[in-house]
Amino acid sequence: MNNIDLKGKRAIVTGAARGIGFAIAERLLQSGATVTLWDIELPNLEKAQADLKSAGNVFSVEVDVTQENSIKRGLELTYEHMGDVEILINNAGITGGNATVWDMGITEWQKVLDIDLTGVFLCCRALAPRMMRKGYGRIVNIASIAGKEGNPNAAHYSAAKAGVISLTKSLGKEMVETGVLCNCVTPAVIETPMLDQMTDQHKDYMVSKIPLNRMGKPEEVAALVAWLASEDCSFSTGAVFDISGGRATY
Ligand code: NAP
Repeated sequence: MNNIDLKGKRAIVTGAARGIGFAIAERLLQSGATVTLWDIELPNLEKAQADLKSAGNVFSVEVDVTQENSIKRGLELTYEHMGDVEILINNAGITGGNATVWDMGITEWQKVLDIDLTGVFLCCRALAPRMMRKGYGRIVNIASIAGKEGNPNAAHYSAAKAGVISLTKSLGKEMVETGVLCNCVTPAVIETPMLDQMTDQHKDYMVSKIPLNRMGKPEEVAALVAWLASEDCSFSTGAVFDISGGRATY
């Protein structure tokens, strides 16, 4: 593992109980950061915290990123644990079921938009002012290649992730000259439990579009995110970083 120096930095990773979020938390810990895991299910969180204990200074707080009150309470507990927060990784997300636009129910559409887009907005809104007051911060949003391309049978997810890309661009510009940078990453298909929500047909479709002809690994995304969360990332904001095995051509 190449070293990235995050000593003295304090991070929140949302959706960190498993998958990409867990890998990001692990990499930040290995880089010297103190990390608070946010996730919606307490038993999963407790297991993740126990699994990460040997990697560094890790706390966990049960937070539903769609609920303002839950974020507020989560932040209070996080500040109690860590003192402050320099790094926010907005990773929590779901795919929702696969359906054409005309077969998709409004409830399913709204649920994906609430978690994948509004959740990112609410967490950014809650953390950014304090980071700006302190004059330093790194916000990294986990979007998706679906947000650039629009995957068929996943309009809710694709639209939410396109929203995350635009939110990142807007917020990045709003915070210029504050010392707080906001960037996003756009993974293609990554091997995590999230894929259990998808049909095999949909997974095959996604791998077939990747020139490197495989799924990515959570650790590969974590490596990019760790750099974006560091002081080494200093001349990028509102930017979209590809991690798609060659799928993205723009
Ligand atoms: P994952 O394995 O399903 O993990 C996501 C975590 O987020 C789960 O622990 C989940 O908890 C949690 N979560 C869901 N709703 C939440 C909420 N309202 N508040 C707080 N936490 C919540 O997913 P992943 O594959 O690691 O994906 C992580 C991120 O990467 C997502 O934003 C996803 O869209 C993005 N991404 C993934 C891929 C991929 O191929 N895996 C590709 C591109 C982008 P529960 O399980 O209890 O619901």
